[in-house]
Amino acid sequence: MKKAAPILSAAVMALSGTLCSCSEAEKPHTVSFFAMDTYMTASVYGNKSDADNVRETVLRLEKLLSVTDSKSEIYAANHAMGRETLLSPETYEAVSFAEKMSVRTGGALDITVYPIVREWGFTADEYHVPDEDTISELMTHTGRDKLTLTDSGIILAEGTEIDLGSIGKGYAADIVTAELTASGVTSAMLDFGGNIQVIGSKPDGSPWKIGVRDPFGDELAGTVTVTDSSVVTSGGYERCFEVDGHRYSHIIDPSDGYPAESGIASVTVIGDSGMLCDALSTAIYVMGPERASELRRCSDDFEAVIILNDGRLLITEGLEDIFVPSDNYSDVSVIPE
Ligand code: AMP
Ligand code: MG
Repeated sequence: MKKAAPILSAAVMALSGTLCSCSEAEKPHTVSFFAMDTYMTASVYGNKSDADNVRETVLRLEKLLSVTDSKSEIYAANHAMGRETLLSPETYEAVSFAEKMSVRTGGALDITVYPIVREWGFTADEYHVPDEDTISELMTHTGRDKLTLTDSGIILAEGTEIDLGSIGKGYAADIVTAELTASGVTSAMLDFGGNIQVIGSKPDGSPWKIGVRDPFGDELAGTVTVTDSSVVTSGGYERCFEVDGHRYSHIIDPSDGYPAESGIASVTVIGDSGMLCDALSTAIYVMGPERASELRRCSDDFEAVIILNDGRLLITEGLEDIFVPSDNYSDVSVIPE
């Protein structure tokens, strides 16, 4: 069986110009570090300690939420053999939010798909196409009914394992945003590899301009101009492999255990909360454009840029004034509310 090299890349980009046009006094404190499987950068207009605290907070959360660290709470839950595992309030909040989003997205977001993600090789970059029986067997351990949240803990059915990779970076960005805001920071940009979160506006008062990556090349598909927002992209190209000309990507459709093929090449979700946008970008990638439009019609807490495999670009109505497409995407359709 042929094995192709993984294709990895960041999906949304903080445009470099956004951070360089200020005077010496307005220079941000910048901290870069590797966490949650991603290279992260925070640019904070505040004290150096504010920037340093970003790294401390993300690393602390990673210790709680990591699926591979044998000391994490998620690891403990995954290895509890059907017994209850007590969770810290932070881990509990992330899991219960994922459960709520699973209901809201009709099961498209499902943190119990982890054993299937692993079987396809996406966790260790050792890709292969599993046989149907293996997928069927693994599917008997997935689904919301295999997970019970107790007053302060979690019980997973034996054989069920969870992974918060679909929402962890967004959750970390929300917690960092709350901490920075509490410490008086009014301008900052967090670039958590595909998850961008901005606090306030730029120091000169103008909004932040965030680039939306073209899933078919290295250029931008457009830019979105925001303040106090989260901009999160999920794309099949971020981690994928090809066998016999067929591309398999790392987001699994929980309804059949196969990589989602909804017609979406990438989706960028814009909203107030990083965790919400992170959950929705993963889910919409699975749901496809029609179900995503239905979801948007009964929601008022997010906007989205959807780029389809056939090259069409769709935006939700709320982006009409703040999304500017690149020349190669001049034909933009608007999803009506
Ligand atoms: P994201 O990059 O936020 O879209 O999250 C994708 C990651 O979440 C994958 O690499 C898997 O670890 C995990 N995942 C894949 N499919 C799903 C799904 N349907 N629901 C929840 N998590 C998923
Ligand atoms: Mg996500």
